[in-house]
Amino acid sequence: MTSARPFLLYDTTLRDGMQREGMSVSVDEKVRIAVRLAELGVHIIEGGFPASNPKDTEFFRKLQGQDLGSTRVAAFGMTRGKGTTPDKDENLRALVDCWAPVSCIVGKTWDLHVEKVLRVDRAENLRMIGESVRYLREQGKTVHYDAEHFFDGYAAHPEYALECLRTAADAGAEAVVLCDTNGATLPMFVGEVVERVVAELGNMCRVAIHAHNDGGCAVANSLMAVAKGADCVQGTINGYGERCGNADLCAIIPDLKLKMGVDCISDEDLAGLTETAHFVAELCNVSPDPHQPYVGLDAFAHKGGLHISAMERDPRTFQHIDPALVGNEPHVLVSELAGKATIKQRVKQLGYPVDEDPALTDRVLDRLKDKEHEGYHYEAADASFELLVRSEMGLEAELFHLEAFRIIIEQREDGSSLSEATVKVHVGDERFIETAEGNGPVNALDSALRAGIERRFPHVHDIHLVNYRVRILDEDRGTAATTRVIIDSSDGRDCWGSVGVGENIVEASWEALVDSITYGLLLAAGAFEDDMKRPASLCRASAEAEEPGRPPGTCGLYGRFDTQDKAE
Ligand SMILES: [Zn+2]
Repeated sequence: MTSARPFLLYDTTLRDGMQREGMSVSVDEKVRIAVRLAELGVHIIEGGFPASNPKDTEFFRKLQGQDLGSTRVAAFGMTRGKGTTPDKDENLRALVDCWAPVSCIVGKTWDLHVEKVLRVDRAENLRMIGESVRYLREQGKTVHYDAEHFFDGYAAHPEYALECLRTAADAGAEAVVLCDTNGATLPMFVGEVVERVVAELGNMCRVAIHAHNDGGCAVANSLMAVAKGADCVQGTINGYGERCGNADLCAIIPDLKLKMGVDCISDEDLAGLTETAHFVAELCNVSPDPHQPYVGLDAFAHKGGLHISAMERDPRTFQHIDPALVGNEPHVLVSELAGKATIKQRVKQLGYPVDEDPALTDRVLDRLKDKEHEGYHYEAADASFELLVRSEMGLEAELFHLEAFRIIIEQREDGSSLSEATVKVHVGDERFIETAEGNGPVNALDSALRAGIERRFPHVHDIHLVNYRVRILDEDRGTAATTRVIIDSSDGRDCWGSVGVGENIVEASWEALVDSITYGLLLAAGAFEDDMKRPASLCRASAEAEEPGRPPGTCGLYGRFDTQDKAE
């Protein structure tokens, strides 16, 4: 049975994906991930449990103001408790009160769980499902019914498991979600079961698959389900999830689109897949797996000379797809052109005149290669990337210059500690020495730097650090460990990321801090407006007419700061 309904990609990175051990993502990071998922073109984003904790409540509140295009947001909950009515059930009330138009509620379909875990009889379990779905429908919600342990339940008592699904479909669920919660079902059985469910319920509702990877088959199970008529797939970016993870959308999406001909995403959006995968990894502070299918750095790498020469003749000889389709690139020397095209595109998107300065892309690419070799990573460090481009264009020089810093850490008897930093910094021809305390060395350094430059750059007080991530890069490196720090900053309106790399955390933090503050000050001074994105040689004539005496190559930036300085 084939369905005419458009296919649905349902992302649960922000709910099930967060169950991965060690995963800790702030509210702002979750919002940025959600926006990126919407840009990728997933149809539903599951955000978590509204009102279950302050963090999720805050997340739903912040997400409401974001432009997510046509992507719908789902809130997660469960069927009503036993012996109550849906309108008196706190978790269902929370779903109704949440603005998210989709409610996904989990419930039982395995009689073993119904009797041993839930401790209700089979008939009451059916009422719990039916009444909960109907109640949410009456409150205007679209409902997905998550059938927990469905495949185990079906293996034990197929008729009861199906009756649970039918109850949800009868009550108006948009989708019944077949969950392989233990993650150990094999594709053959998934195929058999999904075929039956689609035959029985496919004309009433969508049939969705939610697979875990404990048997190494999460992606295969998802594809098999679609082959047998499922028209909605749940998964997470990079396969994040507890234990062995959830089904990896980064493999499922291109498999569906490129190999099975399922129209689940546009060509343009598919080309954003690799960047999205790395962006999410970066925000979750997880090292991207270089060997991940489709989006891994080495997914299309070719080492053998024979491969390379054959590839030059015809890329199909050693590549299963054109990597550009998923926004990846083959990592071989012959492919530098692909890298160049990507960089050129990125610089152009930022609004810089790449066409007027044809060598610019090469210079940026060379710098990037060196930097990335040292451990820099620009996926989530948009500010550092743009500053790198600007320095290659000969736009403004550094706003301030560090002469030295010193940090003293005082460890006290009671176990507490206090850090004190002294910074010697030059702004123009002035030298400032400032000392500040902080709850850690980086915090103290940040405060001392701000104190040092505030007289010349009062806007520094509008820039706040919203996030700070550290990664030790010792993998694949013969030399000593290197530290990479990524800082997210905001001025309340815009948000940007910067990166620093060093032999230790303070050195790396300082570098990221300087980029972050420099970018924020440039932003406040209007340096990113289009007419300021041209090097002095291209705009000197017009700028000089307005502001004589301005230092060369700054496009009037210092002049603007001086004006603001006097005004305060
Ligand atoms: Zn799950």
